[in-house]
Amino acid sequence: MPWDIKPPEVNIGVVGHVDHGKTTLVQALTGVWTAKHSLEIERGMTIKLGYADGNIAYCDGLPLPDAYTIKEYCPDGSESKLLRRVSYVDAPGHELYMTTMLSGAMIMDGAILVIAANEPCPQPQTVEHLMALNILGLRNIIIVQNKIDVVDKKRALENYNEILKLVKGTVAENAPIIPVSALHHINIDALLQAIQEIIPTPERDYTKPPLMYVVRSFDVNKPGTPYDKIEGGVIGGSLLQGRFRVGDEIMILPGIKTQVGSAKSQVSKYEPIVTTIEEIRYGNLIVDEARPGGLVAIQTKLDPSLTKGDQLVGSIVTTPRNNIPVVKTLEVRFQLFERIVGTKELGKLPPIQVNEKIAVAIGTANRVAVVKSIRKDIMTIELTDPVATWSGSRIAISRRVLARWRLAGWGIIEG
Ligand code: GDP
Ligand code: MG
Repeated sequence: MPWDIKPPEVNIGVVGHVDHGKTTLVQALTGVWTAKHSLEIERGMTIKLGYADGNIAYCDGLPLPDAYTIKEYCPDGSESKLLRRVSYVDAPGHELYMTTMLSGAMIMDGAILVIAANEPCPQPQTVEHLMALNILGLRNIIIVQNKIDVVDKKRALENYNEILKLVKGTVAENAPIIPVSALHHINIDALLQAIQEIIPTPERDYTKPPLMYVVRSFDVNKPGTPYDKIEGGVIGGSLLQGRFRVGDEIMILPGIKTQVGSAKSQVSKYEPIVTTIEEIRYGNLIVDEARPGGLVAIQTKLDPSLTKGDQLVGSIVTTPRNNIPVVKTLEVRFQLFERIVGTKELGKLPPIQVNEKIAVAIGTANRVAVVKSIRKDIMTIELTDPVATWSGSRIAISRRVLARWRLAGWGIIEG
């Protein structure tokens, strides 16, 4: 009997420096190449958040880790036992797309930090991504020492020691380090075993009001589709809590941006969007209900021009009855790193200034903000565009250093 495929139940991030093999690893774990956009193919680089669902299965009677597989059939032809379905979130590793990585990190239940053994460790985004996991408090981490096929034993050991030094004192301090060749599918079984042991499916609360972070939004219609065949706008993301069913009325916050006022003094205003769920999909699997864990695509009755091109990334989806504050001014208890990360030129970070422009990742939303006041470790910031959030949320703070936004610290929303 073929596997009874269910939706994925856990989100695992795949993070690390550009070209270290994240997308190749996701392919080894799922059979899917996540870079699908023309610009990504052209540049050979992950730009948007990619995701693919994979299986973790087990073959009875085989020694460990050989017993772990992603395949439906074992080497002897018998059927494997499907243990878990997983959504892998493929983060871009280039410094330009750090904000996308941070959005992705907000929906990760655990992470695989990919480090290529054939380059000196750490590379800048190896550090920056590790710091992001650290400040967001992601504790279930596995380190993959990749490209093991192109290094000798001496370099592999040297790299292993570099990794130990890097993770000391961080959330990844006790993470297993697994040598892998993502390209040649070597030791993927040991990685699957580690995923089962280190990244359990968190307890989910289905009784709370539903909350979903939007990480992608699309228009799925081909150009020239006749209007009576047009499919409604699709939003992709992950539920934090609760559940959605087909037919449910949903509210998207902060909603649609519109310009109001005269041509001279235009201000942008956001209107909440209320619509109905038409279809729920996990990859190709169509289901009646969306739950936490896994990346879900929700097709709505919305005009697809409202969802096309990732316009709704950073929104929160909930029910119209659920009152989530939409705010522009935030009070944040913050903590900054001592040193600049994410670049080779390491220097001390100066204290944050009133009137400084910073970038904040709040849920999956990325916003620019101005620091209005600072009192010890509390600052008041004003966002250029509002965000739907609540007190107690953890945010990542980036500062403009050497002409780029660099991860500089973190904070908790107080009000
Ligand atoms: P990403 O930027 O981290 O997503 O890296 P990619 O997965 O796009 O891989 C970057 C390059 O490294 C590609 O040319 C891959 O074929 C190559 N690569 C990835 N994994 C391995 C590996 O295990 N061994 C070798 N030799 N090359 C690899
Ligand atoms: Mg990639």
